[in-house]
Amino acid sequence: MNNRKIIVFTDLDGTLLDHSTYSFYEAEEALELLREKGVPLVLCSSKSRDEIKAYRKKLSNNEPFISENGGAIFIPEGYGGLKCEFDKIDDGYLVIEIGSEYQMLVDAFEKIKRKPDINIKSIAEFTIDEIVELTGLSREEALLAQKREYTLPFIIYGGEDDVKIIKDEILSSGLTYTEGARFVYLMDGNDKGKAVEILTDTFKKNSPDTRITTVGLGDSLNDLPMLEVVDKAFLVKKEAGNYEERIKVEGLVYADGVGPVGWNKAVLDLFNNN
Ligand SMILES: [Mg+2]
Repeated sequence: MNNRKIIVFTDLDGTLLDHSTYSFYEAEEALELLREKGVPLVLCSSKSRDEIKAYRKKLSNNEPFISENGGAIFIPEGYGGLKCEFDKIDDGYLVIEIGSEYQMLVDAFEKIKRKPDINIKSIAEFTIDEIVELTGLSREEALLAQKREYTLPFIIYGGEDDVKIIKDEILSSGLTYTEGARFVYLMDGNDKGKAVEILTDTFKKNSPDTRITTVGLGDSLNDLPMLEVVDKAFLVKKEAGNYEERIKVEGLVYADGVGPVGWNKAVLDLFNNN
């Protein structure tokens, strides 16, 4: 094993992208370094496929990506001659599907919503104007955010007790949930960690003579499964300046900065020390 390769998996919202402005400007220096070194940057977000595609364009990124909290892996057809098993070819991507069908989640959500004392609202029920108000996305981006395939983002109205009741309902209906900075996500067993593991295995099988080191960067609870499976895990600060305290991973590095500022420092440090 003489060859070495680093693969960087990153969350978008609040990590590579600023929580409020969705800008990655503060991380430009480190992004440029990754481009120079030819290090694959895999976007691994709760965002929808079309939202991530828009960011790949802005970042001139042609790598595989992971949508909707590990709902699916998208590998560009012909990418590095890579071979793998996949569920379908769609829009020029080999798609490995991990999450369940969206309609099933919508139906399950409706069932939970009908129970007494439950006040929840899914992204499908919000108008575009409401999503813009809630997220700070542009109207075009809000439309893309609504195009879900594997997870259903929603908002819980109420206090801690209500949150607990709703989460218990989700678990007892056999589904799972995770939390990003703005939404809770209804899912069926997918998480970022499963997707990162599958994609890492695919890279490893296709390059048996290469020693692959994986790096992960995140900010919120939905990043925990990803940070648990990578070799080097970094946590950036949230907008309020704190770290997500529920993320505890062995060897976790606390990046010194909020969102893309921390991202930039973490990636520059990683390569300057290796
Ligand atoms: Mg995030």
